[in-house]
Amino acid sequence: MANALAIAGGPRLTDREWPRWPQPGERALKSLEDVLTSGRWTISCAYQGRQSYERQFAEAFANYCRSALCVPVATGTAALAIALEACGVGAGDEVIVPGLTWVASASAVLGINAVPVLVDVDPQTYCLDPAAVEAAITGRTRAITVVHAYSAVADLDSLIDIAQRHGLPLIEDCAHAHGARYGDWPVGAFGTAGVFSMQGSKLLTCGEGGALVTDDADVANRAEHLRADGRVLRPEPVGVGEMELEETGRLMGSNACLSEFHAAVLLDQLALLDGQNTHRIRAAEHLESRLGEMGLTVQETSPGTTGRAYYRFMVRLPDEVLAVAPVDRIAGALTAELGFAVMRTHRPLNDNPLHRPASRRRFATDAHYLEQVNPARFDLPVAKRLHDSVVSFGHEVLLAPLDAIDDIARAFRKVLDNVRDISR
Ligand SMILES: *Cc1c(COP(=O)(O)O)cnc(C)c1O
Repeated sequence: MANALAIAGGPRLTDREWPRWPQPGERALKSLEDVLTSGRWTISCAYQGRQSYERQFAEAFANYCRSALCVPVATGTAALAIALEACGVGAGDEVIVPGLTWVASASAVLGINAVPVLVDVDPQTYCLDPAAVEAAITGRTRAITVVHAYSAVADLDSLIDIAQRHGLPLIEDCAHAHGARYGDWPVGAFGTAGVFSMQGSKLLTCGEGGALVTDDADVANRAEHLRADGRVLRPEPVGVGEMELEETGRLMGSNACLSEFHAAVLLDQLALLDGQNTHRIRAAEHLESRLGEMGLTVQETSPGTTGRAYYRFMVRLPDEVLAVAPVDRIAGALTAELGFAVMRTHRPLNDNPLHRPASRRRFATDAHYLEQVNPARFDLPVAKRLHDSVVSFGHEVLLAPLDAIDDIARAFRKVLDNVRDISR
């Protein structure tokens, strides 16, 4: 049968080559060669007579986020843990974490011996539900972390209001949202600190990397200590062969410095980010209108959003379709038609094999703590419903031309029309 589903042995809808990620820019090779021969591969080695790539990136990214200060670090997880600790969060403190996100949002909290309190998300935006946050706050809550998830910006107006009323720092986890805007400002500029991952799948990447941005000089200073073994960059110029990092001993840290190679690649990628985001937005809006004609709904963003960043494009399947075939079968059928990976959401963190604090001896400090961090004690019905009804694909696909984007809509049409063939 000519229009049988590819997953059932029919012809694929398209054999086209989809864009891949990451994509190097023009300056990267030259910058990497420059680092190689510079005599300084990281800021924790002696000064060699010119500004480090790390400092160049920190200035450029603070500027990009319209924040006063940026502290680059080795991973997004480190950025999140350091931001929390720099805001005064520590052992046994409760931190609000959205229940539908990558495991790092919770593991970073465990990493500073605090307690991730998993809170449900909004059914339209898939981001932290402000009412659920309010209900989860206790006398032990010390911070709220919010993820701008997949392709949405969270309801920052409500969350800032809650944080202010309770005197809590708000940490924005912007790992999915480099370049998104809310009101007049880029994300990351709203919280006490904004945290970014530059891991290989992210919109701005150097393979592995991270950063935090803040307007608070004390938070930035503590973050610098925390990421460089208790050392901070000296304010005054140093001579060649001297250390730019000064041992203050004011706050103990560990090593999460970003290498010069990574900083050089990030500078190269930052120059490309806005252009890529513009392309993705055009493709996403085109696809959203094509899918809307078939009665499919996509992830919404909160009303204050003035610029979206698409990390993953998320499509909610109608109940009548899900009554015939489960979401994983539909994702598999779409993957077979299109030749790129169509997947489900992350697994909700109260039922996620990657989030198992009890599997690590380091968290067995006492029975009470283990009970507090037990993911199964949280109820996340909206996150579960989304996990059972949403399919998604990565942002690199949105860098394809619009006629290719039409193929995606056609694949949805074909799979929905033939959904009986994959029922079980
Ligand atoms: C990727 C990611 C992180 C962690 O970043 P790493 O650089 O992988 O450590 C944190 N939060 C979210 C939401 C992420 O997607």
